[in-house]
Amino acid sequence: MEPRKVDIFDTTLRDGEQVPGASLNRDEKLQIAHQLAHLGVDVIEAGFAASSPGDFAAIKTIAEQVKGPTITALARAVKADIEAVAEAVKPAERKRIHMVLGTSDTHLETKFRKSRDEILEMGVAAVKFARNLCDDIEYSTEDASRSDFDYLCRTLEAVIDAGATVVNIPDTVGYAVPEQWGDLIRRIIERVPNIHRAKVSVHCHNDLGMATANSLAAVKAGAQQVECTINGVGERAGNASLEEIVMAIKMRGDFYGGRTGIRTQEIYPTSLMVRELMNMPVQRNKAIVGANAFAHSSGIHQDGFLKNRLNYEIMRPEDVGIEKSDIVLTARSGRHALRHRLEKVGHYYDASHREAFEHIYARFLTVADRKKEVTDEDLHHIVSDAPMDVPEQYLLEDFHATSGSQQAATAHVRIHISGESIAESGTGSSPLLAAFDAIDRITKLPSHLEDIQTSANGKEGVHNVTVRVSYHTQTFFGRSADTDVVKAGIQAYLSSLNQLVARHSGLL
Ligand SMILES: [Zn+2]
Repeated sequence: MEPRKVDIFDTTLRDGEQVPGASLNRDEKLQIAHQLAHLGVDVIEAGFAASSPGDFAAIKTIAEQVKGPTITALARAVKADIEAVAEAVKPAERKRIHMVLGTSDTHLETKFRKSRDEILEMGVAAVKFARNLCDDIEYSTEDASRSDFDYLCRTLEAVIDAGATVVNIPDTVGYAVPEQWGDLIRRIIERVPNIHRAKVSVHCHNDLGMATANSLAAVKAGAQQVECTINGVGERAGNASLEEIVMAIKMRGDFYGGRTGIRTQEIYPTSLMVRELMNMPVQRNKAIVGANAFAHSSGIHQDGFLKNRLNYEIMRPEDVGIEKSDIVLTARSGRHALRHRLEKVGHYYDASHREAFEHIYARFLTVADRKKEVTDEDLHHIVSDAPMDVPEQYLLEDFHATSGSQQAATAHVRIHISGESIAESGTGSSPLLAAFDAIDRITKLPSHLEDIQTSANGKEGVHNVTVRVSYHTQTFFGRSADTDVVKAGIQAYLSSLNQLVARHSGLL
């Protein structure tokens, strides 16, 4: 029997992007969307169109440029939201409007203050309205896991009659457990008379660590679409993780009897890109994509593994795109080798990106000078440091920082500002903060340092530093990477300040 197709609906750019600190600009969203198309997802949820003009523009750009998957965006069940999605996804080859309306009594009573019948009417009217703008309509019954079963079924039947083509059953609060959740999906399919006219979808959250298990229980029960995100990013404890669901369906086809359209070799490059651009690292022991997912450390395991890898490994790392470098990148590697390796990890630079590529090549050479070998993770750090279209008003000339157990850290920083070279000293609880103090004394900007995140891998690794700076209600992110954490931090800080003064030139 031909295995049943399970659609993969990726919501990294909507549910995942709602996470504080994980927000993406338009170019970053577009870059991830291209990679998701490459990965082979069936649907990309590109954002929440009515949330901001910026998100609307990002969705529209993705709809214009990303070919292959269906492009959708989220709407509440109100006309303005639905129109915004219809307008944003209009340029796409395949498009869908996704709307959400609660069905649990908690949501009805406290969020909407409306009766069950009133909400049902509102949902049906919204679907009918949306069907005039788009042929493919997905309806999500928010908080379904805590909704009354009869009311949930009545709602599904009514919205399918009104024209919904996909009905999504979300475990919005991560309350479900696998056996019960699978049973709920099975009972919905049995009970709702017109259910065969729509696809059944699930959207599970990971508050109890069961998002993947619940999604798979639903697939087993007959769900035809799963909503998920790369690395499981998403609200609170996150969404079901795409890589886990896809690999479980693939590895345990004997049990699930299904298949997805995912090119699994693209999983790892996609995972790296998302963790980098969203500033969301994954833990080392994360299933499928963690640094240790294919590492064998105990002696007994190593011995057994070397005799036959199947002793301790159910999948091959290359099946998910983790491969031993065919070319070792060193200071002697040329542009061709670098471009080839970048493509393997999901970064494409054609003739139109010459300037960006040259910048990356220069950064690569500086890193390679100080390290024997440049790893794929280093490459992602280097790429994420590529310049944005912001003039560099502040440019680091040199710095010196010290710290010790008996004294506060001190730093001396020299910066180039419009033809002048200015130096200052600063102090702080760490060399990084001392350097920032020195920079503040030079720039005298009224901005506020909100957050610093650093990450590094290995003892020779590249340090990736992200700095978040606020000015009134605006936030500016600066990123940089270097083998020296203080230098990376200074550059990240200056990058955020350069963005700030680009927007508010009066502050200079
Ligand atoms: Zn969600």
